[in-house]
Amino acid sequence: VSGLLAARVLANHFERVTVIERDSFPTEVPDHRKGTPQSHHQHVLLVRGRQIFEQLFPGFDAELATFGAPLADYTHDCLLHSSAGPVPQFVSGLELRLCPRPTIDWVLLRRVRSNARVELREGMRVTGLVADATRSSVLGVRLDGPRGAKSELLADFVVDATGRGDKLPIWLSELDYPAPREQVIDAFLGYASRVYRKPENFAGSWKAIEIACRPPINPRAAGMWEVDASHWLLTLIGTARTYPPVSEAGFLEFARSLPSPSVYEAIRNAEPLSSIHGYRGTENRFRHYEELRRFPRNLAVMGDGFCAFNPIYGQGMTVAAMSALELDKLLARRLKNGQLATVGPRLHRRIAALVQPAWLLAITEDMRWPTTEGASRGLLTRGACWYVDRLTQLATTSPRAVDAFLSVANMVKPSYALFHPALLAQLTRAALPRFSTQARGS
Ligand SMILES: Cc1cc2nc3c(=O)[nH]c(=O)nc-3n(C[C@H](O)[C@H](O)[C@H](O)COP(=O)(O)OP(=O)(O)OC[C@H]3O[C@@H](n4cnc5c(N)ncnc54)[C@H](O)[C@@H]3O)c2cc1C
Repeated sequence: VSGLLAARVLANHFERVTVIERDSFPTEVPDHRKGTPQSHHQHVLLVRGRQIFEQLFPGFDAELATFGAPLADYTHDCLLHSSAGPVPQFVSGLELRLCPRPTIDWVLLRRVRSNARVELREGMRVTGLVADATRSSVLGVRLDGPRGAKSELLADFVVDATGRGDKLPIWLSELDYPAPREQVIDAFLGYASRVYRKPENFAGSWKAIEIACRPPINPRAAGMWEVDASHWLLTLIGTARTYPPVSEAGFLEFARSLPSPSVYEAIRNAEPLSSIHGYRGTENRFRHYEELRRFPRNLAVMGDGFCAFNPIYGQGMTVAAMSALELDKLLARRLKNGQLATVGPRLHRRIAALVQPAWLLAITEDMRWPTTEGASRGLLTRGACWYVDRLTQLATTSPRAVDAFLSVANMVKPSYALFHPALLAQLTRAALPRFSTQARGS
């Protein structure tokens, strides 16, 4: 995703953009491929991400709709079970397009492919960087092609978007550059997903069900989506090493033990159409490239290779899209001034700043689990959790609280929207009767 988004904006500034991909892309219909094993699992494109995709590729959303992907108002068409219980249903205007990840990749690919400035080279693996004699500038990349054929591709500017398994720290060390400081916070979360045929006589009116886990009591969560008129995609999620099983019986039992029975009730009599796919390795990983004093010229890194999040919060593709916009803005300014060489470090500083809210949300929530490794629960985290708990409780009765919460989670409002005076007033009112009851009791 971040590679194709980067290609889209690079084509605004360069005559020729070459995308190197180790896999072969699907040719006939949207499909899974080896290089993106996460595609079997639910992928929400947050509201902010949806806006940016549309900005970069006008008509993107309509094209997703041609695959039957329904449009869902988050708070009206989805049954939301928060950690404090079910939340009220109302129209918020926070709209999601419910589709499988391969459909997003397919439309993205089709759009990028139709750009005359972009060439896609498939079945080629990047194995390292090509640098000048002083190793101060990157001149291109080294490639392994079909049947091990080795080659080099020279370029004015290289963007690394190779995802969670990114080897850039190793490639940098081969050129005697330091590796970035790495922060890893792991809540030991696993996914298991399966496609079902929607029963013909299904009478429910929802398009999605989202069930949150209840730390530290119940580590099980789930998301079930109608992905077209006749299919559901169910993703079961377990935190704190409660990995959802990929066996028939284990998968069903996990669904039965979710904090709400709604998903189990729906799938009990539905026909499974796919095998069950599992996924682990979901740690939050932040490589602090923005801190490096020395970094080669003409090189930048984006996407999961820079910062990857626990995927339960659905932030990766949206952050990739926001990063692509930053790259576009920087190139527009710096190319004019002949300062291409230093776009990388500047981009890294901007990405490091823009990922902060997403990063803090992910790690703060993950630190609710005593089994999470990589960070300790300081006063600030405990305070943030305390406040979010109050808000989550309020959200079981207050559409305003639900709206604030989801607007921040969908990155269309800044985090401080959670402290809006009207919300604070509601929280105070909600707390008052408890204080007076306690006072009477004592
Ligand atoms: C289980 C799971 C669920 C997720 N759910 C969501 C969600 O709901 N919403 C959301 O926004 N995000 C979600 N994400 C995150 C999302 O998948 C990523 O953030 C998103 O794909 C952007 O990542 P990327 O483009 O950096 O890497 P990827 O999408 O992983 O792409 C990397 C690409 O680089 C290629 N590649 C790798 N190495 C080389 C090489 N050496 N040479 C050539 N090509 C190479 C790979 O084949 C692949 O095509 C989820 C992630 C996981 C694991």
